[in-house]
Amino acid sequence: MKTYIVGNWKLNFTVGEASIYLHKLLKAMPNYRDVEVVVAPSLIALQPLSLQVDRHKMKLAAQNAFYRDTGAFTGEVSFAQLRGIVDYAIVGHSERRYILREDDKMIAKKVAAAVRNKITPILCIGETESERAFGETADVIRDQLTGGLSEVSDDMLDKVIIAYEPVWAISSTKAAKAAAPDEIAEVVRLIRASLVDMYGAVAERVPVLFGGSVKPVNAGAYLTVPGVDGLLVGGSSLILNEFVDIIEVAKRVRS
Ligand code: PEP
Repeated sequence: MKTYIVGNWKLNFTVGEASIYLHKLLKAMPNYRDVEVVVAPSLIALQPLSLQVDRHKMKLAAQNAFYRDTGAFTGEVSFAQLRGIVDYAIVGHSERRYILREDDKMIAKKVAAAVRNKITPILCIGETESERAFGETADVIRDQLTGGLSEVSDDMLDKVIIAYEPVWAISSTKAAKAAAPDEIAEVVRLIRASLVDMYGAVAERVPVLFGGSVKPVNAGAYLTVPGVDGLLVGGSSLILNEFVDIIEVAKRVRS
């Protein structure tokens, strides 16, 4: 299985800045066949960057898209429009769940729309700090997983990636704290067991990523958590040398 290193640039970089950063990243990053490097720029930068990116070295992801392919949906951009431009899409990121009020029903439609349009959805799930404090982590994870995958049939499962992102560990969250590897291991075990309950043994092949305050110094520890196949990186993906270091850690840890 490949190791995934996915950079989520969120609402950062103008199109020009994104292009310069991508240029520098393509020059600086090593090309490791078993490490799949993906970056998720703003929607507006995706089309120009798709002409610039070397897809042998790196892939592009959307941070979001709309679940209907066409129609009267002012302001939306569909997965159908992104087909051929991106290979991946982040779906259900906690910022979209809690700031933009996306629910599991909408997230499920987006996951299905991505797969329908040959884009691999990276479905983000994770509990908030208070849900963890109240002992609700397992229920939240199961609900978000079954909710988000409710339109994914057995034959679609190999097109899906799951990212476990505890909301309390995301660096932009107030008083964020880095998750301990054993805390991650416990939830990743639960995710994998839930997937097998839902889909049977084929679910063992679903890549599960971890995200939340990943930096070069902790990337190795997170990548060696059993069941973790890669990292979703926010803040550190905006800093060229840090993101390159994380890619290098991934290569070292996995070889
Ligand atoms: C994220 O928001 O997906 C994320 C993982 O951010 P950070 O790495 O900055 O915590």
